[in-house]
Amino acid sequence: MNVKISFQDVSKSYAVKTGTFTALDNVSLDIFDREFVTVVGPSGCGKSTLMGMAAGLIDPSSGQTLVNGEPVTGPGPDRGVIFQQYALFPWLTVRKNVEFGLRLANLGKAEVRSRAQRAIDLVGLTDFADTLPKALSGGMKQRCAIARAYAVDPQVLLMDEPFGALDALTRVQLQDRLLDTWSKDQRTVMFITHDVDEAVYLASRVIVMAAKPGRLLKIIDVDLPYPRTEEIRLSPEFSRIRGEVWRSVYHQPAATSAA
Ligand code: ADP
Repeated sequence: MNVKISFQDVSKSYAVKTGTFTALDNVSLDIFDREFVTVVGPSGCGKSTLMGMAAGLIDPSSGQTLVNGEPVTGPGPDRGVIFQQYALFPWLTVRKNVEFGLRLANLGKAEVRSRAQRAIDLVGLTDFADTLPKALSGGMKQRCAIARAYAVDPQVLLMDEPFGALDALTRVQLQDRLLDTWSKDQRTVMFITHDVDEAVYLASRVIVMAAKPGRLLKIIDVDLPYPRTEEIRLSPEFSRIRGEVWRSVYHQPAATSAA
């Protein structure tokens, strides 16, 4: 499998009053083409910093990030970034919001229109293309934000707690929709979440990070088939992996079997 994103000994430190604060300490990690990885860890362990480096929004203090074998020097249309806050323009319809994401792509009007329509259809907002954000639910707004990123046709999706603000039911529905989309187009996805269930359900590998300093703690393989289903979510194997991730995130030693 080809490596899509390669973090090579990346560190990030900030000058603070008391000296230097290490937000991220020597992380090396390869994410493969078409892979879906999730990143979990306590607040402040450097998840967003790591993703910011892949996005080209944060420069490492040392080390480098490669995407497609090329050093990242800034944001680019090959990488779509989706944050928890939808950041939609309230005065623009769904369609115009999605088209806005294409403004830098230097495309003709017809191409912009058809790409936006394809992305809107993909996230299931066809009937709401001419609706303003204020008339949409939280889940629909986030689908619009996802469509905006998809319209640019990025090879890599970088998602920073995209479902964090949504209620549990909407969240589960969007997880399925995202996996459905991913199974069709097989983009490479790096997805940050606080939710251990979400991390296991979506990913083929869960990257567990630790804080103080922010670092890579463990990589846990999720050896469950796609498509993921409710049956898988409720299976003993899912529970086992979920337990392993949970213990790693909260730094508890693995339970030993009772004698
Ligand atoms: P996470 O996404 O895991 O919550 P972040 O990557 O956002 O963590 O942040 C990692 C650490 O770096 C945090 O402790 C945060 O406070 C710190 N940090 C982020 N940006 C700055 C900055 N500009 N100056 C100082 N510290 C920062």
